[in-house]
Amino acid sequence: MDIVWYIYVTFIGLMLGSFYNVVGIRVPAGESLLGRSHCPKCGKTLGVVELIPVIGYLVLMGKCKECKSHISIKYPLIELISGSLFLLLFVLLRGNMVEYIVSISFVSLMLIVVVSDLYYQVVPDKVLLVFLPIILVLRMFSDFIPWYESLIGGILGFGFMYLIAWYGEKRFKKQALGGGDIKLYFIIGLFLGYNLVFLSLFFASVIGLLYGMIIRKKTGYIPFVPFIFVGSILSYLVGQAFIDWYLGILM
Ligand SMILES: [Zn+2]
Repeated sequence: MDIVWYIYVTFIGLMLGSFYNVVGIRVPAGESLLGRSHCPKCGKTLGVVELIPVIGYLVLMGKCKECKSHISIKYPLIELISGSLFLLLFVLLRGNMVEYIVSISFVSLMLIVVVSDLYYQVVPDKVLLVFLPIILVLRMFSDFIPWYESLIGGILGFGFMYLIAWYGEKRFKKQALGGGDIKLYFIIGLFLGYNLVFLSLFFASVIGLLYGMIIRKKTGYIPFVPFIFVGSILSYLVGQAFIDWYLGILM
């Protein structure tokens, strides 16, 4: 009956992904989380079918029914990434339910802040404050890493990002990192532990640089949180294997 579980967790991931779009867009704007989703241009509320993750986007063919304005591909993408990660992590971690819940909580946090970063270039404190205790406490109950590795990881992640920001401001006289990124890294460090926290930043930077080289966007702001998201998930999934492989080359 595995398949029933797979369908179930994917469905939950898709539905929550849809909700995370709403949270990431409404929380920084100070809007209520209640109330039906609507077109940002003309305000038309979405019908029942249009609210279904991914399907809604396909039914509308990426355009508002009323005003025909373009609906961002970001919505179904966030839903798809959420659904896929809920499934992938379930397949990998089904023997360890606490770890599964920690990891999907982390994915949830990251998806919300990715959305906020893409729309407003902010990482909302409110969202961090909701997830901080959840990840802090759940991390203690999972045997993925000992609690002190988690705590030290959080402190190191925060401290290192703080230093980068401080140095960047001193050296280049402009803000290189937002305060939100720094606080976010405390939670990433808690989740990954001190073994993997720096690797996540390394992955994020490499992917960010490659993206910058390929896309060559001239206009100022490139959101960094999506790269932090990819970097930390990669680090969580394959980080230890990557470190072992790298040390194997050195030996
Ligand atoms: Zn519209």
